[in-house]
Amino acid sequence: MKIIDGRVLAENLRKNIANEVKQYSRPPGLAVILVGDDEASKVYVRNKSKACVQVGFYSDQIHKSSNITQEELLSEVKRLNENNNIDGILVQLPLPAHIDANVIIESIIPEKDVDGFSSENIGKLSLKKPFISPCTPRGVMKMLASIKCDLRGKDCVIIGASNIVGRPMAMELLNAGATVQVCHKETKDIKLKTKSADVIVAAAGVANLVNADWIKEGAVIIDVGINRLDDGSLTGDVDYEAVKGMVSAISPVPGGVGPMTIAVLLENTLTAYKARL
Ligand code: NAD
Repeated sequence: MKIIDGRVLAENLRKNIANEVKQYSRPPGLAVILVGDDEASKVYVRNKSKACVQVGFYSDQIHKSSNITQEELLSEVKRLNENNNIDGILVQLPLPAHIDANVIIESIIPEKDVDGFSSENIGKLSLKKPFISPCTPRGVMKMLASIKCDLRGKDCVIIGASNIVGRPMAMELLNAGATVQVCHKETKDIKLKTKSADVIVAAAGVANLVNADWIKEGAVIIDVGINRLDDGSLTGDVDYEAVKGMVSAISPVPGGVGPMTIAVLLENTLTAYKARL
């Protein structure tokens, strides 16, 4: 059984990015906008900015009060769209309820949309002409590549159908030649589908949803879920201890998809930078 170590893969990706950045006279710049005081969002933003600095990027952290109006936030994005030292713009989600996140995401020019959430970048991924694609699914693809998982003809089941994980994940796997089923809250008898899957990507946000009964011997499992238990510890959507004896490869939580997501964000910023050169 292989454990897919996201920390090691992310470290290698960061090293490659840092080496490449040395050859450029101006550093790639990433601006991260945080609205409000959500504690988890603050940690994510801090980690992203730290990762930027580590690879030699310019990092601009912009913190706005939760009272900011949609128009004010739009003009902040516009300012960054026009700033030549900024190659990537990321607005940390979730946003306060009075702001329409879709409007904000679409206001980032696709060339600087390093989260890959804009309809233009999602459209390109869907048409198999990716430019900048969402970080978490891209990270999962790199993890599958690291174990030389040839996805052509494989039966893949994704649990979760969000815009940021499940849906772009389906496109990535389809583009790689897999046959894909996407399950969600309304799906009947998910177990029946996962039980015959060669690859399962769990991204529902439900602790220990996937257990030994749900998988077939030798399956590859990528656990995207991050769930905080009452004792403060983090766990994924997969009951790791219960399934580890049956799978051919599995990613742990923590130390799996999480670090890859941030490393791909850096890669996306570099892609955006090079496209603007
Ligand atoms: P979301 O709440 O936007 O979407 C969850 C999806 O799962 C929905 O499509 C929903 O229908 C489905 N779902 C919920 N309960 C289900 C159930 N019991 N059975 C089947 N489907 C179910 O969440 P999201 O933003 O896509 O995130 C999903 C999980 O992945 C969360 O735990 C989140 O913290 C984690 N996440 C991790 C990373 C990372 O870098 N590791 C990145 C993004 C999200």
